[in-house]
Amino acid sequence: METKSIWKVNTQEKVLPKLNQDISCDILIVGGGIAGLSCAYYLKDTNRKIVLIDKNTCGSGATGYNTGKLTWMQDLIYHKIEKNYDTKTALLYLESQKEAIKLINDIVKDNHIDCNLTKTKAYVFTDQEKNYEKFNKEIKFYQENNIKYKINNQLPITYPSKLVIETDDNSFVFNPYKYLIELKEKVKNNIKIYEKTRCVSIDTKDGYYLARTLDNYVIKSKIIIVTTHYPIFIVPYFIPFKTEVKKFFLVAGEVKSKKDVQILSNGNPSISMRYYSDKENNYFIYGRNSHSTTKKLDIRDDYRTITEEYKTFFKKEANFFFHTHDLMTYDDMPLIGEVKPNLYIATGFNKWGNTNGTISGKIISDLIIKKENKYCEIFSPKRGLSLDKIKNIPLFNFNIGIRYIRNKLNSKMKYYDNKVIIKNIKGQRCGIYIDEKNKSHIVSNICPHMKCNLVFNYIDKTWDCPCHSSRFDIDGNVIYGPSVYDIKIQD
Ligand SMILES: Cc1cc2nc3c(=O)[nH]c(=O)nc-3n(C[C@H](O)[C@H](O)[C@H](O)COP(=O)(O)OP(=O)(O)OC[C@H]3O[C@@H](n4cnc5c(N)ncnc54)[C@H](O)[C@@H]3O)c2cc1C
Repeated sequence: METKSIWKVNTQEKVLPKLNQDISCDILIVGGGIAGLSCAYYLKDTNRKIVLIDKNTCGSGATGYNTGKLTWMQDLIYHKIEKNYDTKTALLYLESQKEAIKLINDIVKDNHIDCNLTKTKAYVFTDQEKNYEKFNKEIKFYQENNIKYKINNQLPITYPSKLVIETDDNSFVFNPYKYLIELKEKVKNNIKIYEKTRCVSIDTKDGYYLARTLDNYVIKSKIIIVTTHYPIFIVPYFIPFKTEVKKFFLVAGEVKSKKDVQILSNGNPSISMRYYSDKENNYFIYGRNSHSTTKKLDIRDDYRTITEEYKTFFKKEANFFFHTHDLMTYDDMPLIGEVKPNLYIATGFNKWGNTNGTISGKIISDLIIKKENKYCEIFSPKRGLSLDKIKNIPLFNFNIGIRYIRNKLNSKMKYYDNKVIIKNIKGQRCGIYIDEKNKSHIVSNICPHMKCNLVFNYIDKTWDCPCHSSRFDIDGNVIYGPSVYDIKIQD
């Protein structure tokens, strides 16, 4: 089976040139995923000199590997937000998601973007009675706030279910990668985009930000928007201590026909399903599980489970396997806004980055052009940190702390075979992978971000950080941040 995102099949992208000199601009956007390109889209006509850089290519991050769902019915989230905050905040969040879906529909229509955008019904279900209480709380929220829904006892596909909430209001699916690469083509007329350009540091001097690239060029800008998924800096705001990274796995297989539905289960494991049609084939996409990257290290178990489940439920083999991760926040709300004068972030999308990344573009552009935006306050990274809301923060840090210490003490994971060796070489802790041709690939075993020890991922042949999810290839090149540096060995 190919370990490749289904969205990249039959999709061509043009790679843009990298930065090769010092430059200055009014606004620098770091990161060309859905959040960064949405910021670019809403700022492109503001008469400012705007630059966007991406360390790889736009769409190469989490957005190019997600399920491509656009819905406001995001699991059983509203009664939780109501409990953490109040009804007004929960309703405002709901409104922001509906607005983001409308914004995407408008962008697709106005720019003739071909990204398979399709209206669907959306379902949240459970097959376990122990989850009924949460469903009842969510249904009560819907009833008290006149939200239209239906209750069923089975799904529109053959899959175990007992209690199902359905909506046919404002839910869509699309190909998120196609959407991004076409959006890049539209914004690049007004915005200078440099790809293969990695930002490694952001400093301040004389009221300007100086962003340095790996090739040692400097971009001087009054305003910086960091949309790198996991922000590349630790200070200000201390994101690594306020979020948790969760991993999700997806498989997809060819099917004869498709249904316009998107389905999500509540509980553990969390299952996410939808259909997708490109010009040639119909596919069924099956996503599974959300476990903290600190807890499970050997992703071969996840690969086995999801491929076997797919085969059991749908009586055939899957053709694609892919996975990515997302940042979860302490209060189930994204972090969008200013963290320091003229420094903006958009992150912590809690698995709903297609809508939240899009609304980030609107919020941050409104903040920059000083236009009122009713969602600024609820998403502000500076929102109050009262005791009842931060209860998850100690847990996130405990899990990371335990993993950090365990990995420091263990030089060898239980699941390593003789192809993966952890060894001290000239006083430096190294990870060695011996490939099929018996060639040794030696890299540092320490993540440059916060010095956690890396673990080997046999499915993708990468070194992964279990603390904050940076990932590196076997030759030490960083694939995913927050690390901005490679782990190549210095001679
Ligand atoms: C399996 C899975 C399924 C999901 N399904 C859905 C879904 O159906 N619907 C939904 O709404 N959300 C979904 N999500 C969530 C969603 O995928 C993410 O929240 C969203 O893609 C994050 O977008 P982003 O723009 O912040 O990050 P990304 O898409 O990761 O973009 C960040 C960009 O920044 C670049 N970058 C990183 N570091 C640097 C640097 N140092 N210098 C320059 N550039 C840099 C990267 O190359 C990348 O292109 C899912 C998440 C997972 C894990």
